[in-house]
Amino acid sequence: METNYLYNNINVKNDFVNNKDKVIIAGPCTFSSYEEVYSIAKELKEVGIKYFRAGAYKSRTNPYSFQGLGDDGIEILLKIKKELGLCIVTELLTIEQVKKYGTRIDIIQIGSRNMYNYELLKEVGKINKPVLLKRSFAATYSEWLLAAEYILKEGNHNVILCERGVRGFGSEETRNVLDIQAIPYIKRHSNLPIIVDPSHASGEAYIVESMSKASLVAGADGLIIEVHTNPKESKCDSKQTINIEILKKIIEFKNKMKDWEIN
Ligand code: PEP
Ligand code: MN
Repeated sequence: METNYLYNNINVKNDFVNNKDKVIIAGPCTFSSYEEVYSIAKELKEVGIKYFRAGAYKSRTNPYSFQGLGDDGIEILLKIKKELGLCIVTELLTIEQVKKYGTRIDIIQIGSRNMYNYELLKEVGKINKPVLLKRSFAATYSEWLLAAEYILKEGNHNVILCERGVRGFGSEETRNVLDIQAIPYIKRHSNLPIIVDPSHASGEAYIVESMSKASLVAGADGLIIEVHTNPKESKCDSKQTINIEILKKIIEFKNKMKDWEIN
């Protein structure tokens, strides 16, 4: 399908589609206070990050795990957007949340667990905001592209696909397996941009740098990475969260790639 990138305040087409300067979305999995998330956002802005990720509504496997700050968390992120001028990328889990906040945040993240939630996909299809559609950990490429089609069909053509790892042999070794082949496959079969989440794919901070570089070389349009100023203090997914120093190395690599004649 021909895409017609409409957007409000951010330029998805310029930033994510065939941009030699690949986008890096960075930030913590979630957060437990304004002070925590503000200090991370501020440091990320200083290293040149424009798109800030942080979860306020968390879809956790264990119902007793921290579920995010919810509405209060979204308000904190909107305050940070205003104070630091960052674009906010955050997950919305329900139709009600999309109605309430969909037009106020910059990129709506649809999580892996919700890729098959067709009513939610239709709802984000009705608004004029970019949607980051994560691949389910067990979805075929066709299922993933058809999920994107639910959004496109409603009129919202600002869909960014995100590969975040598929189920492998179990999480004792790595959390998931990064399906790097998804990048050339999607490039051949769709004209939607595709970014990679090496954090949820590996579940291990030490793997994130090499997989980030590999994804960029394989043609990904960008990355979404979990970063914290003090990963050990992260309320969720601390094991896979990198620090700012490692992020800087990934940014440096990405900047070098601007001059390469590949992809
Ligand atoms: C996340 O990005 O924090 C997240 C929960 O990702 P996924 O939906 O890919 O598991
Ligand atoms: Mn996470």
